Amino acid sequence: MTAVRRPLVVGNWKMHKGVAETAAFLEGLLAAGPPSGVEVIVCPPFTSLPHAAMLLTGSSLGLGAQNVHWEDHGAFTGEIAAPMLRELGVGWVIVGHSERRALFGETDESALRRAACAQAHGLEVIFCIGETLAEREAGATFAVLERQTAGLGALDPGHLVVAYEPVWAIGTGRNATTEQAQEAHYELRRRLAGIFGAGPAEQMRILYGGSLKPSNSGELLAQPDVDGGLIGGASLDVDSFCAIMRDAASRAAGVGS
Ligand code: PEP
Repeated sequence: MTAVRRPLVVGNWKMHKGVAETAAFLEGLLAAGPPSGVEVIVCPPFTSLPHAAMLLTGSSLGLGAQNVHWEDHGAFTGEIAAPMLRELGVGWVIVGHSERRALFGETDESALRRAACAQAHGLEVIFCIGETLAEREAGATFAVLERQTAGLGALDPGHLVVAYEPVWAIGTGRNATTEQAQEAHYELRRRLAGIFGAGPAEQMRILYGGSLKPSNSGELLAQPDVDGGLIGGASLDVDSFCAIMRDAASRAAGVGS
């Protein structure tokens, strides 16, 4: 079967790379040139966004932020509003990442509020979900995914990407198996069809995230319902990131799908 969804590769740099390192990375990435048929987004820290936006102007690479607040402005010390991101030329935002949930009190509800505000301001949303190891071992994976997706019907599916990121795989070096990833993505698409209808769900991209790297991206990105990756550690190195992009391009060409 040939993939109908354009593969999407997103680099989540987390709290890595100031302006100088961002510039060096993006110059390398632009020189390597992203392969055709793949959409590529980089998500640097907030302070690197203006310079990244300047360097990426006119390129095919997209720019994303790692978080956004649910209000347009106000007394929210340390937060960033969607209009501020738009003003910089940011087109995408990651919402509900497990590190935000585990370390900074993000909930399903607050993640949804952020996502809704982001979409209202024209940002494309990458909405992160995934079970913990304890939840998986308790056989609760699908129940967790159901709970985490329960409110997505309030969002516009045309500007929404879901990232399945099993918490136990993030930054641990232990990725989901191809079977585990495909099973979760298939279930998610079934669930999205229940929320948005079969047509929109078939168009929506579901990314896998969790220790995705060149040694496993070929097989993971070849799974029928895995439409690309959200990549942390391996997105910090140009060569690794490019290798994953090439595997996504193979999917785009229908080689692995
Ligand atoms: C992430 O931060 O979303 C992620 C998947 O990290 P890593 O690739 O390092 O596991």
